[in-house]
Amino acid sequence: MMNVVTRFAPSPTGFLHIGSTRTALFNWLYARHHGGKFLLRIEDTDRERSTNEAIQAIIEGLQWLGLIWDDEIIFQFSRAVRHQEAAQRLVAQGKAYYCFCTPQELDAMREKARAEGRQPRYDGRWRDRDPREAPPDVRPVIRLKVPTEGETVVQDLVQGEVRVQNAQLDDMILLRADQTPTYMLAVVVDDHDMNITHIIRGDDHLTNTFRQIQIYEVMGWRPPLFSHIPLIHGQDGAKLSKRHGALGVEAYRDMGFLPEALRNYLLRLGWGHGDDEIISQAQAIKWFDIKDVGRAASRFDMAKLTFVNAHYLRESDDERLINLLDPFFQKMRPIELTAPLKERLLKAMPGLKQRARTLEELAANALFLIHPRPLPFDEKAKSLLTSEAKSLLQKALETFKVVSIWNETTLETTLRTLAESLDIKMGVLAQPLRAALTGRSISPGIFEVMIALGKEESLERIQDVLDL
Ligand code: GLU
Repeated sequence: MMNVVTRFAPSPTGFLHIGSTRTALFNWLYARHHGGKFLLRIEDTDRERSTNEAIQAIIEGLQWLGLIWDDEIIFQFSRAVRHQEAAQRLVAQGKAYYCFCTPQELDAMREKARAEGRQPRYDGRWRDRDPREAPPDVRPVIRLKVPTEGETVVQDLVQGEVRVQNAQLDDMILLRADQTPTYMLAVVVDDHDMNITHIIRGDDHLTNTFRQIQIYEVMGWRPPLFSHIPLIHGQDGAKLSKRHGALGVEAYRDMGFLPEALRNYLLRLGWGHGDDEIISQAQAIKWFDIKDVGRAASRFDMAKLTFVNAHYLRESDDERLINLLDPFFQKMRPIELTAPLKERLLKAMPGLKQRARTLEELAANALFLIHPRPLPFDEKAKSLLTSEAKSLLQKALETFKVVSIWNETTLETTLRTLAESLDIKMGVLAQPLRAALTGRSISPGIFEVMIALGKEESLERIQDVLDL
């Protein structure tokens, strides 16, 4: 078995969006599965559109998801000289040539094609022309001499065999007049130099692959194996757009998704292992194979992602969750998470995490625990705090004051005994109690809440309501 080397080659022109993230994940998994390498190449050759912010977003997004690359990051622009040399070598070998067409000539060619209802293509007018005939003021591009006969075949590991007639492909530009390489040239030279064995990318690149294979052929290099994975579509089957959730990974982080949940969800988009929905990292590495990637476009489903996230929240370590919640709390209300507040959260976390689907939701549900007194009350909680309810709370307060063992059994027995002595149902007492302690009408179990808050804080919160 050859030593597998995959790569992720994003153009840093925008955020790391969800489709590219899945591409990175598949490349990472394939390399890990085979004990190979996963390399990161930033394709920053387009100086106008590449930005440092985008590079940062890509790096941080991959790190957040745990898709850590091997070796140093390769910046494509730093290899410009190598790209120029590669193109010039082909000219020297007669496999490529200088083309001195003016922009006006190219426009005329395009116009003519349009008028005749053809795809615009370069007509090869400098292919066999002597460069000594070149106009003095035109800086040439380098074009590849593409074979005019035969066909180019891609044996794609996902799409199967795909072929194109060479006559349909014109002589592509390899090096622009300003000496910058085209994507086609740079990607082939870099993949070759980086010893890439498998290229896994979106199927929007499939047509580029014919051209890239032609470059491999003239270079005398062995092409890597290609896998073109179907794109991700929205729920409605249309191409993924912002409206469908085509956001940067950081947007998912900020909405409160866990990296392992997003990774698990993206893995299942287009790849499957039976009906398994929840697949651990270790299982994914063990099972992932490119031949199990489907050919149909997959649909991005926010509800499913949320479901998977809820699972990972429940599985998560409580201390980790508290650290992850901090930024969400800060957005809602800046509160310093002191050790006693963390202790409160820690006590309530086993119950809280059962009921939340995202970190944002979890933070909203947990905020009452750390909110300084007096607590704000939502509308429903307010409506529960009638004067009748307050007189019940007064009795509850007196009763709880004398409870010395603050645990679930004692608290429950105490409240039950009180309800019986007043000849009311326990719920009649528990409802205003919940409102007083949490400011809300829905919360984790009332005794769980009282234990997390502790005796002193619980009694003070009840007293606050009585003082209103
Ligand atoms: N830089 C290209 C892109 O962002 C990908 C190149 C490749 O995977 O071959 O679409």
